[in-house]
Amino acid sequence: MSNKQNEWKDKYKELALEMDELQKQLDDRSLSRLTTQMAVHLTGVTPKLDTALLQLTEELKANQQTETYQVALDSVDKELRGVDQAQQKTDGDLLKVLREWLRQINDNLAADQNNAQLDNIGEMIPQAVERKAALPGVMKDLLELQKPLLNSADSIPVATPVSLGTESDDELNDLCKQVEMELVTLVKSLYIPKSDQADAKALIKQIRQGINLKCMSDVFQNLTQLIVSVASRSSSDFEDYLVNLNSQLSEVQIFLTDSHKDEVENGKETDQLNTLIRRDVKAIHQAVTDSSDINQLKVQVSSQLKSIVKSMDDFRSHEEAREKAVEERYVAMNDRLQQMETESMQVRARIEAERTKAMTDPLTMLPNRAAYDEKIAAEFERWKRYQQFFSVVVCDLDFFKKVNDSYGHLAGDKVLRLVANILTNKCRSTDFVTRFGGEEFVILMPSTTSAEAAQAVEKIRHGIESSPFNFHGKSVTITMSFGVAEIDAADSIESLFNRADKVLYTAKKNGRNRVEVA
Ligand code: GH3
Ligand code: MG
Ligand code: MG
Repeated sequence: MSNKQNEWKDKYKELALEMDELQKQLDDRSLSRLTTQMAVHLTGVTPKLDTALLQLTEELKANQQTETYQVALDSVDKELRGVDQAQQKTDGDLLKVLREWLRQINDNLAADQNNAQLDNIGEMIPQAVERKAALPGVMKDLLELQKPLLNSADSIPVATPVSLGTESDDELNDLCKQVEMELVTLVKSLYIPKSDQADAKALIKQIRQGINLKCMSDVFQNLTQLIVSVASRSSSDFEDYLVNLNSQLSEVQIFLTDSHKDEVENGKETDQLNTLIRRDVKAIHQAVTDSSDINQLKVQVSSQLKSIVKSMDDFRSHEEAREKAVEERYVAMNDRLQQMETESMQVRARIEAERTKAMTDPLTMLPNRAAYDEKIAAEFERWKRYQQFFSVVVCDLDFFKKVNDSYGHLAGDKVLRLVANILTNKCRSTDFVTRFGGEEFVILMPSTTSAEAAQAVEKIRHGIESSPFNFHGKSVTITMSFGVAEIDAADSIESLFNRADKVLYTAKKNGRNRVEVA
């Protein structure tokens, strides 16, 4: 919409006042001229307004005092109010779009880039929407800021569709925006190792493409995968740390052994020196005995003796100091060794605890889906290597939504815990029972054919069906459906699961509370 059209409001007010004033004083011709002038200014805003204005001009030409003149004037008024409202909505939408544009640029710029300029533009946006003359400048600035982002393929700011619909749409839209922001913050706050950075980037991109109810579960799945991967990698970082610590420990050990050896060597040297000097002393003593010029020799030998004894004493005291230092070093090193061992044990325990936590479902304390993924991979490997067959059972509670709806979510949680207990107690210790997600459990049965698995599962099914579940003193029957599949030559991990899941669906279709075998 042009500036000329945007300024219609002020002009209209001005002209209308003038017209009121003049209506009292001027002749018909002047009033008609003024109305025509006003019509020229306002023409082209909307077709309806054009018609109303035409009518008004014509009425004026005929006779401004009649009732039809008043009707035409009211109709212009009404049209103008409609245009005003539409204009306000357009302004609101424009404000939203510009702010979203700015936000996307902001999200993609590096932290230290153009912050001041972004703030300036942020402040200018409402003014530009109010006074359209400033709009091209603001848009030009946004384009300038966006240019470097468009040049780097990875960080193209994806246009988030900005809903401009009804109020409830707006609320949902705001909520989704909020979720988007929180998710992006979450991903950014994770410590992402290099190997996962591409996935993290792709996830942020996916989130920014807009979260809606349809894609939400997909996004959450990717987010979970990323977090699981990051968590398992950080625990492998700890393992690296341990390996490193271990090598440090062996270095210390080598040092200690060497020091000890050193000490023993030095002890030997000391003894040697002792023997040597004593032998020399003995020789001198002999010379003294044999000599004829006794006085001169006495003086000479006496001073030699003193010097030898002194050097021996020096050597001894030096040795003692050295031995003491070595001993102290030895003790300090020993302390350090012990401290390192304690630390290493603590780290090991922490890693173990973190790993267990990451692999455990907190509600039922059963192994979770991540644990299942690891276990099935190992089982599948054994199958490939040693033809060690196994079966997979996918279990799903029947009409569980009804339990939640009728007795509440906490009651639902309680059922999940009880069912987890039944599954664990009725399975063999070699079976691996996991909570796969929601009200779905998966059991891995090593060295079990599908027929054997079906028999065992039948007992579980019966156990659940006949377990007394009480809600508010009322006994309720809970049932579960099962799909069993045994690994076969053509299977991948996924196809095996899919086959079991497919027959679970058949069990549901055939009336639930049933076991079906693929
Ligand atoms: P069907 O027999 O076809 O499986 O029907 P259903 O109602 O069990 O299946 P549906 O998939 O429609 O609903 C599953 C319900 O499980 C919906 C959800 O509220 C509930 N649920 C999933 N996870 C949990 C949880 O952790 N706690 C509770 N209380 N309910 C859960
Ligand atoms: Mg169910
Ligand atoms: Mg289900």
